[in-house]
Amino acid sequence: MISHMRDAANVIDDGRAVRAAEAAVKAVEKRLASTVQDNAVWTEAYEAITQGDAKTWAYENWGETSQDYPLYDGVILTAADAEKSIISAYLKGQEFEPLSYLGQGLLQQIERASIVRSVAATSFFRADGETVLVASQAVQPFSENVTDSAYATLSFLKIVTPEVIDTMAADHQLEGLRLETGSPEKLLSIPLNDLQGAEVARLSWPSQQPGAKIFSEVYPTIAASAVVLVLYLVSVLAAGGAETRRLRKMAELAHQKATHDSLSGLHNRFGLLEALNHLLVSGNRPPLVLHLLDLDGFKAVNDAWGHAVGDQLLTLVADRLRTVHGEVTHVARLGGDEFALVQVGQTDPAKIGALVLDIFRSPFLIGGRTIEVGASVGIAVEGAGNGAQDLLHRADLALYEAKGAGRGQAVHYDQQLDRQREEVAALEQDLRQALERDEIQPFFQPLARAATGEVLGVEALARWLTPHRRIGPDEFIALAERCGLIDMLGKQMLRKSIREAKLWPHLNLSVNVSPLQLCNPNFSSEVKALLGDEDFDPRRLTLEITEGVLMSNPDHARRSIDALRAIGVRFALDDFGCGYASIGTLREFGFDRMKIDRSLVTAAHRDRKGLEILRATISLAEALEIPVTAEGIETADQANVVRAAGCDQLQGYMIGRPMPANELNAFLAEQAAA
Ligand code: C2E
Ligand code: CA
Ligand code: CA
Repeated sequence: MISHMRDAANVIDDGRAVRAAEAAVKAVEKRLASTVQDNAVWTEAYEAITQGDAKTWAYENWGETSQDYPLYDGVILTAADAEKSIISAYLKGQEFEPLSYLGQGLLQQIERASIVRSVAATSFFRADGETVLVASQAVQPFSENVTDSAYATLSFLKIVTPEVIDTMAADHQLEGLRLETGSPEKLLSIPLNDLQGAEVARLSWPSQQPGAKIFSEVYPTIAASAVVLVLYLVSVLAAGGAETRRLRKMAELAHQKATHDSLSGLHNRFGLLEALNHLLVSGNRPPLVLHLLDLDGFKAVNDAWGHAVGDQLLTLVADRLRTVHGEVTHVARLGGDEFALVQVGQTDPAKIGALVLDIFRSPFLIGGRTIEVGASVGIAVEGAGNGAQDLLHRADLALYEAKGAGRGQAVHYDQQLDRQREEVAALEQDLRQALERDEIQPFFQPLARAATGEVLGVEALARWLTPHRRIGPDEFIALAERCGLIDMLGKQMLRKSIREAKLWPHLNLSVNVSPLQLCNPNFSSEVKALLGDEDFDPRRLTLEITEGVLMSNPDHARRSIDALRAIGVRFALDDFGCGYASIGTLREFGFDRMKIDRSLVTAAHRDRKGLEILRATISLAEALEIPVTAEGIETADQANVVRAAGCDQLQGYMIGRPMPANELNAFLAEQAAA
């Protein structure tokens, strides 16, 4: 476009220059024509030439002047006769021979001028290697009513000298204008013609090429603009590229955030499912194995050292898991202290499971503390048509089983687990119904004075009375604790036992309380309300608790215990000798009674060591000044041993089995009779 503009500008300027040159020639012609007109149309000159001494007049007025006159260089006066004979001819003040100087063409011009009166005839001639402009006009008076058949003619000559050319050039802005004969190359030009229109000479000048000039002036600007444009486009592209990369990075970051756990940097549950789904659809690989693991004892770490240490522990576990085995392609933290590993490879999953458990053999060092935790592992291998959720569900069942089996176990999923799970779910439903239908009833087992065998009290034990199956309290109490029914069950048991116990005003009543009940902040007030409702003397009631709750939730336990002790309720430590409660803890809670677990009694009968443990345990209670009940006394031998060791109360089949209230009435009557 720019070069087109440049060429167009050049063409336009060339046209202008041609018109200027033509105007310059016209101006020169016109000036000479008007000069000759001024002199020829002059009554005095006419009269002098037609009636006087024409030759002398011509010399005095024009010939002499021609010597040094800017308007003309020569003058020719011809007569009115047919031959146009020369009357006078001067060139630069010297007489000369016009026809030999200018050629025969002059006669034609004079001929034309002598007829056409009003206008001067002008044309160019070639003379002596110079170009000469000649203007001719008939000599005539001003008055127009004079008409002659022919006139004398006056011609002025103007040699087109370099000075004339220069003036033309200056007046018409034609730089480099010059006169040439022949056609000049690469120059602009116009012809100077004779009367017949034949070329006499040529005015030529170089094209100004303003377009090219402007172009060369603006070229650096255009080039710079082009560079700027290119730079601009490049930077737009670069910025676009950078923006695209930035957006892609942001999307990646968002995906990373959504699929990863911020604490450990491992995948989260969502990321794990995504990875599993991805792997499951990719063919040609060994079956996937999902290992789920759950830390044992993590809650205790959190409780003892705070969440910051807990978090560090999780991070350290994550680090160890990352490098556990080459076939583990993904490690995820599913929340809390639960992790998952995806194994793709031929190695026996049990071996990987064992490696995972090995991680926990060496303790973790955090801020100078040595922390030991264990783990349980559930393993599920991909089966036909398994989705990610199926795999997760199966590994979860196996993990649940592993945790139930005790610390540090790795359990493989098998279909049995699914069935068990379904059974448990069904059982839960049954238990709920049982509670609603009052199918859970207390049985009562007598507690007797060791020395005399006199029945002093009864322990209420829950029984689920179903016609078609027998489920022991060990099982359904645990189930109730797991599915959140324990509060309801506990309250029912307490109310029913109290109502029955009203029949035996001389007996104490012992009722078992789950740790979960004890931790319920409303527990003490609910018990108080119940005692009030039933109008039962709190001093007759003993609540049996296990020591676990004293360790895990000492504050909650203490609050409930203190509140109820204040109204006279007594507390017995159940299953004493099985756990790890410190002597300090036992003293601090101030139990009214300890119940030695049946396992200690059985063990005492087996060997000497067992007997010593039994004796030591009872001595410990004695040292703490707490009376002791021995559970599970089935034989007189056992009764003798525990009695000798210091137990003041006995419970067991030997004295009486747990029985319904009405049976207990008969039992008590029998006892009284005996
Ligand atoms: P526990 O409190 O230690 O109750 C004593 C258990 O020993 C009872 O088992 C009782 O039947 C059994 N037993 C008593 N004497 C003998 C004996 O001479 N030989 C043998 N082999 N066993 C004897 P049971 O009734 O099956 O209760 C099991 C556990 O379930 C109880 O242990 C208690 O921890 C829990 N439990 C029972 N009822 C309740 C309840 O109402 N609430 C709560 N929270 N737990 C309960
Ligand atoms: Ca008990
Ligand atoms: Ca017990």
